[in-house]
Amino acid sequence: MQKQNGKLFVISGPSGAGKGTIVNAVMDQADPSGTALSISMTTREPRPGEEDGVNYFFVTKEEFRRQIEAGGFLEYAEVYDHYYGTPKSKVMEKLNQGKDVILEIDIQGALNVKKAFPEGVLIFILPPSMEVLRSRLTGRGTDAPEVIERRLSKTRGELAFIDRYDYGVVNDDLKEAVETVRAIMRAEHARVDENLHTLIREKYGEA
Ligand code: 5GP
Repeated sequence: MQKQNGKLFVISGPSGAGKGTIVNAVMDQADPSGTALSISMTTREPRPGEEDGVNYFFVTKEEFRRQIEAGGFLEYAEVYDHYYGTPKSKVMEKLNQGKDVILEIDIQGALNVKKAFPEGVLIFILPPSMEVLRSRLTGRGTDAPEVIERRLSKTRGELAFIDRYDYGVVNDDLKEAVETVRAIMRAEHARVDENLHTLIREKYGEA
């Protein structure tokens, strides 16, 4: 397979658009030796069933601030009164090992990654419609109605950032959305960039 250094894929989009489900399905279908999911650090409480080191690294605000001071994050953001951040060294280590790394983070985080790491590929997951988004958030049963309303109005503003993304995938049909994300990942490995030039030098020698 045509592969060199790992690539960084950032999957984000409004809350309830289904990015978590898409990312899980992409990971289930991916070769674990070639693709890694970045585990974020957060100060929010674990939800039932969530495990430290699996869903997130759950830390205190003090610990999180210490990591910020130490420059330990590729990006971090404050979302709904909690901190969330992407541990930098783990991501860089995997990319250097030739693995693709997927980040599932919020929109401000994605835009910050693009600033710090312009080669990162940003994929925006779009909900099928505002009505579907509302019923998904309600059906999840984890958030109070006022939190849902806050998230919906935030979504309208977030759609304005689509032009800063490389790709937009509408999550109408889960299977199709997963296939599209996988196709994007594959196509990005055929992009004419420094990676491909390295491969060409190795295969065919200097021009
Ligand atoms: P939740 O609390 O539902 O797990 O996540 C809330 C939001 O934080 C989601 O939009 C999620 O994608 C985002 N998020 C999770 N990890 C990170 C991270 O490392 N950085 C940023 N910027 N956002 C994150």
